[in-house]
Amino acid sequence: MTEMNLPQPGDYIDMHTHRGKPAEGVFLIESLMAHERKSPDDIPGVTYTYGIHPWFLNENNHKQLITSVENSVSHPNMIAIGEAGFDKLRGPSAELQLKTFNEQVAIAEICRKPVIIHCVKAWDELLSAQKYLKPSTSWMIHGFRGSVEMAKQLLSKGMHLSFWFDYVMRAESTGLMKSLPHNRIFLETDGADIDIRIIYEKVARDRAISVDELKSIVLANFNEFFAPKPPFTSFRAGFKGGLIH
Ligand SMILES: [Zn+2]
Repeated sequence: MTEMNLPQPGDYIDMHTHRGKPAEGVFLIESLMAHERKSPDDIPGVTYTYGIHPWFLNENNHKQLITSVENSVSHPNMIAIGEAGFDKLRGPSAELQLKTFNEQVAIAEICRKPVIIHCVKAWDELLSAQKYLKPSTSWMIHGFRGSVEMAKQLLSKGMHLSFWFDYVMRAESTGLMKSLPHNRIFLETDGADIDIRIIYEKVARDRAISVDELKSIVLANFNEFFAPKPPFTSFRAGFKGGLIH
């Protein structure tokens, strides 16, 4: 674990990116998707998450993708499972999405790592999965855009939120960005051609704080999100994901 690359005070933390370009003062979390079959050796020194994105999941590749997630967890730069989750607009059946999500949560529980969540129009599914699984590691929804009420509901369930860059940059998000508590918020580029520094500037303006203050808030949230969890003991009695062998 000592090799793990961690953000330094003063860094801009980009919580979720794809093919992010390293830059001075920017700490990236690269999102590797199991179907891409990319090896961490392709991105040496880069901190990353690894998981099954629902868009690229199907009955035929499910087993092989789960195996590659199981095999990914021992790498020291692998910091979280994901992105994993639910998408009502794209991807396989709701059953396969749920089963695969549950299996990835089980892997996360066993390896004591957080989960990065992709969720499109499936808040009920996500919340009921959380209620059923009772996870003991942290969950973060990436690419969040939605109402203040939904954001507050998710935060009240202990989730962390990272906001969709495109939404954050719009004036209409100012109300949301300034009304949320400091803890459990993150920012990301999601691999879009946008500079994370511009996103921090917008949110700092919305919250009427300095960029440096915002960086300290996000770093504190990062440290809390990734804080080591007590060792694994058990997970959801009766869990039928077929994974725990
Ligand atoms: Zn993504």
